[in-house]
Amino acid sequence: MTTATAPAAYTELVDRLRDIADLGGVMGLLGWDEQVMMPPKAAETRGRQLAGMSTILHGKRTDKHIGELLANLAGNPNLDTEQQAVVREAKRDYERATKVPPGLVAEVAKHRSEAYHVWTKARADNDFKTFAPYLEKNIGYSRQITDHRGATEDTRYDMLLDDFDPGATEAATAELFGALRPKQTELLKKIVGAPKQPRVDFIARNWPIDPQRDFGRALITSIGYDFDGGRQDISIHPFCGGTGPGDVRITTRFREDDPLDSLMGMLHEAGHALYEQGLPHAHHGTALSEACGMAVHESQSRMWENNVGRSREFWSWAWPQLRERFPAQSEGVSEAEWYHAVNEVKPGLIRVDADEVSYNLHVVIRFEIERMLLRKQLPVADLPAEWNRLYKEYLGVDVPTDTLGCLQDVHWAGGMFGYFPSYAVGNLYAAQLFEAALKAHPDLPQQFARGEFKTLLTWLRENVHAHGTLWRPAELLERATGTKPTPEPFLRYIESKYFPLFGV
Ligand code: ZN
Repeated sequence: MTTATAPAAYTELVDRLRDIADLGGVMGLLGWDEQVMMPPKAAETRGRQLAGMSTILHGKRTDKHIGELLANLAGNPNLDTEQQAVVREAKRDYERATKVPPGLVAEVAKHRSEAYHVWTKARADNDFKTFAPYLEKNIGYSRQITDHRGATEDTRYDMLLDDFDPGATEAATAELFGALRPKQTELLKKIVGAPKQPRVDFIARNWPIDPQRDFGRALITSIGYDFDGGRQDISIHPFCGGTGPGDVRITTRFREDDPLDSLMGMLHEAGHALYEQGLPHAHHGTALSEACGMAVHESQSRMWENNVGRSREFWSWAWPQLRERFPAQSEGVSEAEWYHAVNEVKPGLIRVDADEVSYNLHVVIRFEIERMLLRKQLPVADLPAEWNRLYKEYLGVDVPTDTLGCLQDVHWAGGMFGYFPSYAVGNLYAAQLFEAALKAHPDLPQQFARGEFKTLLTWLRENVHAHGTLWRPAELLERATGTKPTPEPFLRYIESKYFPLFGV
């Protein structure tokens, strides 16, 4: 970035953006503390603190002076490519923040918080009827908000997708999923019906927590997570957070009857963290140092968790270490049996528990349902029946209760429509990027077998991390891999890994 010759308005804009990002980092710390450290009696106090900080932050984001700076910089011929990207993304953020009346923002936040509490209870009680009016209202609010932002019936869902994955559209997502879904359902059927199924009894043995944590930390240190620029703690829902450059934290949950929950979870969150730690911090506060949306973010976590962490070579390196740390728990288990168990395929009801062969199908179902809900083509009352029908058709499973069905995820209770697709798109991006990295470095698997991950990380740093949001995700993918986003590498990856393993 050539700030020396940048117009004064640009320099001032960047100062403002950095200020906003730093305050956002303070919010990040408050949120991390709430989930990791805070005593339960502080909930109300923390709620007020967060609300107060939100108001300050919203004031800074919507400050008219930012609008003036952006107007001043629009089409300015003295901006280089990077500076144009910073202005482009700042304008997107500013418009999103200013087009919705503050009164409506507050009203929606209040309703979503109520809806969240009603959903928690409805899920526990298997009581969709009580939750339905809150969901209906959430949909109404999302429609109202997108109306303020200038949506038509045809662009409304695009706008919501774009909130999480810049540049994503309903049409492009439908095309991607349309090419993926029937083939993935077919692969899943073949693998589930295959003769060689894994033995998994040993997973449920008693695996003590302390060595799980130590082993997980050793694994993520090996792949490159920098503990001097982060830390790892315990929370009920694992996440990657922190306060900004030099402070990228992850959390883990532990189960004594399932070591894979913590180990694969740590690799997943460390994958998110490697991305954050690899962003160019010199550009802190601007789009150039921000992750390129949720789908690319998820591609990084899923690649380390699945393409690397569930590979045969990874476990040929990690298995002897596991044997040493858990001699009793791994007694009588071979490396091959462990590798097969790590890749068990079992179509089920719960998205977050899904294996990599069935995972995307859970997401496609949510995508198809929420686009209909937003267009009011599917009445809320009919949601459970439609959910159950699609689970039968795509995953071959019967949904016994709404608790295990359409009430399982928090997203719609929190009004987060448009978020789900990024989970599956992230898997497709992961496979596409991994295939390109393999093409550049065919010996990556042999390196993994020696516990060497630097070549892959460097490739990701150069092709993904270093660029922040200089380009939108589709362009980033095309520049890194040579092709537009496509489900083919994912389908190839699944078939070439699972068919031999399961004897298809
Ligand atoms: Zn993730």
